[in-house]
Amino acid sequence: MQDDGLYAAMVRRGMTRRSFLRFSAAMAAALALPLTYAPRIAEAVSSARRIPVIWVRGQTCGGNTEAFLRSSDPTTAALLLDVLSVEYHESLLAVAGADADLARTNAMSLYPNGYLAVIEGAIPTGAGGAYCLVGGRPVADVAREVCDGALATIAVGSCAFDGGAPAASGNPTDAGGVHRVIGNGRLVTLPGCPLNTVNLAAVIVHYLTFNELPPVDLANRPLAAYGNLIHNQCERRPHFEFGEFALEWGDEGAQKGWCLYKLGCKGPETMANCPAARYGEKTSWNVRSGHGCIGCTTPSFWNAMGPAYKRIPGPIPFFPALSTDTAGQLMVGVVGAAAGGHALGMGLRMKRRRMITAREAKAAVASEATVAVVEAEPAAAIGPAPAQPLEAPAPPVVIPEPETGEPETAEPETGAPPEER
Ligand code: SF4
Repeated sequence: MQDDGLYAAMVRRGMTRRSFLRFSAAMAAALALPLTYAPRIAEAVSSARRIPVIWVRGQTCGGNTEAFLRSSDPTTAALLLDVLSVEYHESLLAVAGADADLARTNAMSLYPNGYLAVIEGAIPTGAGGAYCLVGGRPVADVAREVCDGALATIAVGSCAFDGGAPAASGNPTDAGGVHRVIGNGRLVTLPGCPLNTVNLAAVIVHYLTFNELPPVDLANRPLAAYGNLIHNQCERRPHFEFGEFALEWGDEGAQKGWCLYKLGCKGPETMANCPAARYGEKTSWNVRSGHGCIGCTTPSFWNAMGPAYKRIPGPIPFFPALSTDTAGQLMVGVVGAAAGGHALGMGLRMKRRRMITAREAKAAVASEATVAVVEAEPAAAIGPAPAQPLEAPAPPVVIPEPETGEPETAEPETGAPPEER
């Protein structure tokens, strides 16, 4: 390509100004920017110069290279294939062996801190890195060298993101993501199996427009592309809400385009923009074409998101056999029981309250009646009590007569001294 910017390259490809502006608007949408940014993006991208790229491959099937080379959207392809100047890519080089190594080191010295490092595939460190060698050296060493001298590193695909399939349970090669070899922190990850090239184009456009990498989450994924659940953007979501599910592949629900949740779709657990960005010139994506999401942009997705056609088992520690559905039903049961208990408690409290109120009302009525009766009585009725008749004096005590036979009458006890008597 002549180094006269993307717009000139697109014109040579037969593109029109209108489609270029459409592309700028699409990039603004992919970056979650208002459409008002489209002219600024158009200006930045149309005058952009080529960015050198050094593309290193670790443990990979090559799916991301395929996605990159077969970008079918014409403007995305123009951006990726014309603005990016791929200086080193093992699958695309015309040379091999020592000459290939020389091509890489030449590119690094030609553009010090001025090229993009793109890493595809997992980085194994088991057996001293012997499971994946580039020119006889562990790919971890080569990737570290390339990333250290780069403007920024973009990890493309799920294997470069965190090890992907090579790092699945067992992980005999001790495979991991690119973060293992990044020391400078200028890393953007684009997980997906494979990556969506719209997101790669959006990262580059953001860099060209704002001279910095886009905002990312804790796993270095651009928030614009990985900040929302697939489930929230899915065109089958209304069927989920109405309880309309495909229960078997090819059944009536599947034919009607109903929700694939019960066939294992991981859209409710997966953060990505697949429904909006789509694939194949934005024609479709996996759920639209009838297959559930497999959660490939999620960390450790081979372990965490399997099996592909069942709901995720074991979300609760210590209860590995508990599926998400069962856990949901359990939660509904617990919440229902709690609501029932609360209603019962409230009923009892209200009943007690009613009893207390009734008792208080009864007491108040009784009290009012008493007051009424008292008020109705004449004042005399409540005057001093009538005098009570005095008790008759006690009869004298007869003391038996002494020996002399003279009867003697004893005075009643007065308590006075004998001489006063
Ligand atoms: Fe969610 Fe998947 Fe159903 Fe779409 S098909 S609504 S992503 S569960």
